[in-house]
Amino acid sequence: MLTRKVSFFSAGWTDAKLKVGHVILFVAVVCVSLIAISTWGVFNSLEYHLHDKETEMSNLSKTLSSNIEATLTQADTVLIGVKERLETEGSDAENLKKLEELLKIQQKRLPQIHGFFVYDEQGRWLLNSNGVIPASANNSDRDYFIYHRDHTDPGPYLGPSIRSRSTNEWIMTVSRRVNHPDGSFAGVTIATIYLNYFLSLYEGVDIGTNGLINLVTSSGNIVVRKPFRDQDIGINISKGEVFALLKPDVKSGTATIKSYIDGVERVIGFRRINGYPLIVVAAFDRDEVLADWRSESLASLIISSILLIILSFIGYRLITLMSQQIQAQRELQASQKDYIEANKILGLMALEDGLTRLANRRHFDFFIEAEVARKKRKKLDGTALIMIDVDLFKLYNDLYGHVQGDECLKAVGAIIRKHVNRIGDLAARYGGEEFAIVLSNTDYVGAFLLAEKIRLDLEQSKIQHRESPLGVVTISIGISSLSELEVDTAEGLVDIADKALYIAKSSGRNRTVISN
Ligand code: GH3
Ligand code: MG
Ligand code: MG
Repeated sequence: MLTRKVSFFSAGWTDAKLKVGHVILFVAVVCVSLIAISTWGVFNSLEYHLHDKETEMSNLSKTLSSNIEATLTQADTVLIGVKERLETEGSDAENLKKLEELLKIQQKRLPQIHGFFVYDEQGRWLLNSNGVIPASANNSDRDYFIYHRDHTDPGPYLGPSIRSRSTNEWIMTVSRRVNHPDGSFAGVTIATIYLNYFLSLYEGVDIGTNGLINLVTSSGNIVVRKPFRDQDIGINISKGEVFALLKPDVKSGTATIKSYIDGVERVIGFRRINGYPLIVVAAFDRDEVLADWRSESLASLIISSILLIILSFIGYRLITLMSQQIQAQRELQASQKDYIEANKILGLMALEDGLTRLANRRHFDFFIEAEVARKKRKKLDGTALIMIDVDLFKLYNDLYGHVQGDECLKAVGAIIRKHVNRIGDLAARYGGEEFAIVLSNTDYVGAFLLAEKIRLDLEQSKIQHRESPLGVVTISIGISSLSELEVDTAEGLVDIADKALYIAKSSGRNRTVISN
């Protein structure tokens, strides 16, 4: 029963150790997963933020390109009308007057228009929709004038951003060539557009604090840029990263690049403007995108860290509790072992003689009963009983004292034990200075031989006994055997051996007598 309990406990202990291992593994897996998910989330969110901003910039460049296209087309449509009229009706004063009136009306309707102008083939001013024609003003040195004079191409020409000679404001120009009836150069009609108008288009557009919107010609010259700075106008950025992306077949795109002008890294969206050699670029500072991402990631990292701490704490508590439980089980098991050990000792004490370490009388009684019963059942070889009594022991005690007497009994016990070592035999202290040996499967001859061995051994060990005839301690022995007798009970067997012992005593001691 106890042993079964022990195995239960040891199984429980292994189980518990296994469970602790599982809990540690589980907590570790959850923690690592949490860290992995958070890290993945943070990087994924970075991708998302950058991609989101790219899309936003792409949409912005699309909207702006439509607005810019509309702004230019409105101006150019008026120029087509002016060119037609001049070419068909000529540039006499009356016609120019009527045209001027017409252009004034158009200018009122178009807020982007700074002015409409007409110059003759020498660059002299023929018409200004703003009314005033400065004396001896000549624009033959202007870029657009030179272009139209030297090219017959009837299409619109976009000039670089310049300061107006009439108002000193920043403007850009759209111009068309006017021909004489023979096709030769008759001059230029031009619309000037406020750069401010473009800036007003960009108002309310969110490009952060360090973003920009850039309108550049396809040859890379800056037309207008938000934030606006005088010194940026006209700068050529064709060596910049945007132009590296702008292959001839590329109409629009997104990227993250470093600004050619201020070196800031930005997320950009760019788009060519339909029908005009212009490109609009909307850009958002990458660091600002990252700032949003950082604050978002920080929040998620804080939450994950708190979760991690809580989880680790719970895991730690669980593991400590389980370890404590294992410790308790271990202690319980140890005390269980002690208990079993104590029980064993108690059991032995119940069966063993304290002085001689031979079986005690209770053990002997139990053993001989069982032996006789077994013999009756199986009808095997006989069981022999040897009864031993120390000779003149009362005198020994009187002479040497009781303590010395005990030592003598111990010595006799040791000699008996030395000779009785076959499995199935039992040597016992029968009581006082009497001993008994049960020999299973032994007849009286075997018993006699063993008895004599013991007797002679004791005699030769020469334990001094001055009152004994030989001067040493001796024993007398009586033997009985089941197979030789008619008795079949333990009591009968003992009784007969006792009788033989009595004969041994009465016939001179220090001898062995077999019953018959
Ligand atoms: P014999 O048997 O030879 O006829 O003589 P005896 O002197 O041995 O006879 P008896 O049976 O009268 O004496 C037995 C003595 O053994 C009595 C007692 O003092 C002693 N004795 C019995 N048990 C113990 C014991 O445990 N220790 C000691 N020291 N002596 C014991
Ligand atoms: Mg006696
Ligand atoms: Mg005696």
